Amino acid sequence: MHVRQLLIGAGLFGLSLSQPACGGNWASLVEKSLSPKTSIQCDGDNQRWSDYAAPKAGAVVIVGDENDVAKIIVAASKTNTSFLIQSGGNGWANTFKLDSRGIIIDISSLKAITFNAKKTQVTFQAGVTNKDLIDAAWNNNARVSASTCNCVSVLGATLGGGLSRTQGVYGLNVDNLISLNIVDPNGIRKTVTRQNNPELWWALTGAGANFGVITSATYKSQPLPQAQNTAWTGLLLFNESKLEEVITAIDKLTLAPDMQLDIYFTANPATGQPSVLVLPFYLGSAEVGRQKFASILNVGPIADNTEVIPYNTWNTAGDPFCTPGGRKPSYTTGVKKMDPVAWRNTWNEYIAFFNENPEANLTTILTECYSTAKTAKSVKNDGSSSYPFRDIKCHAITIPWYTSPSIDCSAVKFGQNVRKHLSASAGTKSPSSYINFAHGDEPLSQIYGSSLSTLKKLKQKYDPKKRLNQWFPLS
Ligand SMILES: Cc1cc2nc3c(=O)[nH]c(=O)nc-3n(C[C@H](O)[C@H](O)[C@H](O)COP(=O)(O)OP(=O)(O)OC[C@H]3O[C@@H](n4cnc5c(N)ncnc54)[C@H](O)[C@@H]3O)c2cc1C
Repeated sequence: MHVRQLLIGAGLFGLSLSQPACGGNWASLVEKSLSPKTSIQCDGDNQRWSDYAAPKAGAVVIVGDENDVAKIIVAASKTNTSFLIQSGGNGWANTFKLDSRGIIIDISSLKAITFNAKKTQVTFQAGVTNKDLIDAAWNNNARVSASTCNCVSVLGATLGGGLSRTQGVYGLNVDNLISLNIVDPNGIRKTVTRQNNPELWWALTGAGANFGVITSATYKSQPLPQAQNTAWTGLLLFNESKLEEVITAIDKLTLAPDMQLDIYFTANPATGQPSVLVLPFYLGSAEVGRQKFASILNVGPIADNTEVIPYNTWNTAGDPFCTPGGRKPSYTTGVKKMDPVAWRNTWNEYIAFFNENPEANLTTILTECYSTAKTAKSVKNDGSSSYPFRDIKCHAITIPWYTSPSIDCSAVKFGQNVRKHLSASAGTKSPSSYINFAHGDEPLSQIYGSSLSTLKKLKQKYDPKKRLNQWFPLS
């Protein structure tokens, strides 16, 4: 029901308009100035990717007009109402803290996408998902750097760094940003670029959710005819007895800029049995792709479904992971080295959890490995962004997946055990967790790395009242 209807109803029944039935006082402050495209839901219904530690709010505002975001934030500030920005609804962190007066500001309906005439830049709104942007780029004979799951909002991923299959060539998503239209914690609208505010730009590009609400952005795009916009990829299925050989091959493989790779421990879609699947990715022909990944192919997959496919289908294999709902308390570790013993221990943990919890049969350990050829150049701190892990090759994510809360305890233990096995052998100086994959129980230094102390100072400067404090809060 629209808040207008609620307010009218409240008036008819003699209730004060300053105390609407849903939405709280903030709503009465702002309601009359909002676009008719914006509405407020009072039933608390809010589907997200994971129900585990999901935020619960008194109301969900569905924003239909980009201009309304600032108005809602000003009203929330004046009434001391906590709020959470929600776009794709995929964030699984356990750091969301809303009370029953709190609001979710859902920006997922903001979907405009415009390419410039040369197709070298694209401007898009905050609700645009990877699928929306990829489809639009494909239809414009262009390629943009987007992340590997269709359901994720481009900006949700980008504000934490934004890993992408093509990052070896084009850099991280943050490296593709040209400008950001933000609403600051005080509700003031600004356009931020690297040139006009380098320190805020740096903070936004790695820890963005702590520094602003991005309502739209301009991003680099590569003009490319559809016929050339293809890649060789597809699933390779291995017998688990080959696990050590597969892990060793991945460890030894230097991913060239045009290569990327995922490895999954997951139920084989055909048999339902736990399996080792590898998804190689090469920006070129099957012939050269097979040469580049020869060390992995030589281990001998039982099935090989690789082929050359168009850009607008690269993410399709990951669509089952986008399925919303269910409980998925997930954990991550950044790894530079892949140690076969640690990965065998990880497999054993996975099998034990899988066998003990038949309803958790969608549980997956997904490891995404990227070329660091382009991103690592910036490690020696060219100061380009606050994303701290440019030299990390792989990010392993344990995703227990089930519906019954009675499994929570063993799922948490499973996720933490895997993180322990992998971080002990990760080849990094200290454990690292990419913010977009982190759980929320890690020390902040594990998430923000070497950027932490500067980010904390900037947080004091740009958000001293701690209004943006839902996503791995810096204060
Ligand atoms: C199935 C799946 C696949 C994934 N694949 C990848 C991947 O390939 N690469 C990768 O880098 N990450 C990936 N992720 C992680 C993903 O980047 C994060 O979960 C990201 O935060 C999700 O953003 P969202 O908008 O979809 O979710 P939300 O839950 O809506 O947002 C997550 C956080 O970001 C904040 N936020 C979102 N949009 C804005 C905005 N416009 N302004 C300010 N704050 C904002 C929200 O307030 C929230 O705190 C994946 C996640 C899932 C569930």
